[in-house]
Amino acid sequence: MSHPFEVIVVGAGSAGLAAASELKKAGIACCVLEASPRIGGRVFTVASPHSPLAMELGAEFIHGMPPATLALVRQQRMPIMEAGGKRFHFTRGKIKEFPDFWEWMEKLSSGIAKQGIKQDRSWYEILEQSRYKNHPLRPFALSFLEGFHGADPTLISYHSLKSAEKFGEKIQSDRSFRIPNGYDQLLQLFLQTDPDIRLQHLVRRITWTRGEVSLNVSTPKGVKTFEARRVILAVPLPILKTGIEFSPALTMKEKPLSHILMGQVTRVNFEFDEPFWQGKKQEQSDLADLGFLLSPGREFGTWWSTHPIRSCRLVAWAGYQSTLNFKDATESEVIGRALNSLSVMTKTPPAQVQKHVLEARCHLWHKDQLIQGAYSFLKVGAAHAMKDLVRPVDKTLYFAGEHCHYQGNHASVDGAIETGYQAAKTIRADL
Ligand SMILES: Cc1cc2nc3c(=O)[nH]c(=O)nc-3n(C[C@H](O)[C@H](O)[C@H](O)COP(=O)(O)OP(=O)(O)OC[C@H]3O[C@@H](n4cnc5c(N)ncnc54)[C@H](O)[C@@H]3O)c2cc1C
Repeated sequence: MSHPFEVIVVGAGSAGLAAASELKKAGIACCVLEASPRIGGRVFTVASPHSPLAMELGAEFIHGMPPATLALVRQQRMPIMEAGGKRFHFTRGKIKEFPDFWEWMEKLSSGIAKQGIKQDRSWYEILEQSRYKNHPLRPFALSFLEGFHGADPTLISYHSLKSAEKFGEKIQSDRSFRIPNGYDQLLQLFLQTDPDIRLQHLVRRITWTRGEVSLNVSTPKGVKTFEARRVILAVPLPILKTGIEFSPALTMKEKPLSHILMGQVTRVNFEFDEPFWQGKKQEQSDLADLGFLLSPGREFGTWWSTHPIRSCRLVAWAGYQSTLNFKDATESEVIGRALNSLSVMTKTPPAQVQKHVLEARCHLWHKDQLIQGAYSFLKVGAAHAMKDLVRPVDKTLYFAGEHCHYQGNHASVDGAIETGYQAAKTIRADL
């Protein structure tokens, strides 16, 4: 049977766009079906009426110097800026500088590694059995796991963290960069190949056999059928698990899928009328150079500024457990809870903090039915899960997305882009 498309890509996030652009360059007939009215997925940049700085509701940082992202940055001659500033922590009612945070984290990590952990266990279990069990750094380490990795420390695989650490060393992931004009600029290059993208096309069911796929799609003009010889599934992990009906079912992927879990985080962007927190000389700390402020155990345990750019913006970040606790909360309740955290830490009455707010914006990713979380993490013993997941089925079903990067770069935009490139490359080889 001849089809208008050789390949259909489902999902126009970083992975789907990267794949479509590569296929288009190779002259392979392809179209992208995206359920939402915009492209980008978890890259979600918006403009603020109160600041010339782009505002990120999803990804903000380029972690380290990953080759795929840096190549795009160079091709587009896009300015990027290294994140800086001092690190502080709020403990026992006081804000103090924490200049050696990374050195401590490294000490803890290498101290644990020296124990020689052969059999994979959860990071929490390993921490509890280590000499760091009662260390003052323990809450920071736990908060980092829940925040940065968006993971449940009692479930996340220790070995997977070590493999991510190894990858991180290669790309200097202790450094991070921002794209002042917005993360969405990075994806613009993929549009230069003019891929055929259909927005508001929600894929509900995929019927497949070797070399034939038929997609049942809800569109603004009613239900349509799209046919092709292959499909790249570049949808978020929870959608792959239960959001699309497959006929026949993806039984061959059940095991790897059950080993990869969706992490949870919540971020809120605040634009204030002035950087009121800087006026407070708290003890010996001067917050004028604030980069990050950590307060483990607090609902919003991490805050950051836009340093080195001086602005009136702060970002509040809540990790895994807090986000689970926000299950039934509305956006304005979540924003209110973030402001309460800030009020306590800056010793400024809530009403006064509220008066400084010009704008507060967040996107509750756990409530977004097309995403259902933040980014993926691996369960104990799941060393091969991502590699098993990404293996194509019958040269017909291909997989891409941040949850498919099995070399330690999952959960990132760069990792998602690489998996998109890889899916396109595999298809070219299979043709
Ligand atoms: C709050 C937050 C902060 C983050 N911060 C960073 C950061 O600083 N740095 C970093 O590198 N990464 C960060 N990440 C992770 C990063 O954003 C993701 O890893 C990456 O964007 C995922 O890309 P993707 O293409 O795999 O998936 P997505 O971007 O989620 O794209 C998948 C697309 O599939 C679409 N879709 C879903 N269901 C269907 C369907 N049935 N039919 C058609 N389309 C469908 C969705 O609408 C979506 O557009 C962050 C994520 C979040 C949530």
